[in-house]
Amino acid sequence: MEYLIAGNWKMNGSVAFAQELAANLAAKNKAGAPRAAVLLCPQAPLLSLVAGICAGSGIAVGAQDCHTADKGAHTGDIAAGLIAELGCSYVIVGHSERRADHGETDAAVRAKAEAALRAGLTPIICVGETDAEREKGQTSEVIARQVKGSVPQAATGGNCVIAYEPVWAIGTGKTATVADIAPVHTQIHGLFGESGRIGAGLRVLYGGSVKGSNAATILACAGVGGALVGGASLDPEDFWKIVGACP
Ligand code: PEP
Repeated sequence: MEYLIAGNWKMNGSVAFAQELAANLAAKNKAGAPRAAVLLCPQAPLLSLVAGICAGSGIAVGAQDCHTADKGAHTGDIAAGLIAELGCSYVIVGHSERRADHGETDAAVRAKAEAALRAGLTPIICVGETDAEREKGQTSEVIARQVKGSVPQAATGGNCVIAYEPVWAIGTGKTATVADIAPVHTQIHGLFGESGRIGAGLRVLYGGSVKGSNAATILACAGVGGALVGGASLDPEDFWKIVGACP
């Protein structure tokens, strides 16, 4: 299975910054034989611009969130169908920053993933425990609850991606070790299989302070199918090192 390296630009980047970063990465992707599928997830107003720049380069573009409904009176929200119409193929749902900042529950995340599937997008469904939950030894319980609650019944290894992002490792510079990462990835693959869904080909990304210097170790972990990268995705050289670190 090809690895997936996804850049989550979060709420960063002006038009000029996005243009430069996307053009730089599109040129890199075209020039060499990349070791992974590459995905860029800019802020929603930049999706069309970045999708245009990446067209023909092999780089995919995705959004950072979508609404649960296909359309309607939801001021400020974004319809999955429109994201697809703009040339995107993925959408991140249930990122811990959205769960924390917008009170998104597992049920809401699942409904967003279902909306993404209806629109023909691949949802990247994020799960991960907080520092307090980890300290209390609740990691596997939290992951089981989030996977069962957030992943649609119609999800398969072919139409969805799961990202394990321990909240304590996001944007903190704290990197999880192989001993933290491998068991959770194995658990997620197991939960997916047990649920009766077609788990073959399921990509489970790791996210949390991945950078060029630690990517090779993380990407070699059992069950890891790629990375969801925040901070380091804003630096084209470091992001490209992560792509090049795929086994
Ligand atoms: C993220 O936000 O998905 C993330 C993993 O961020 P960072 O790489 O900055 O920890």
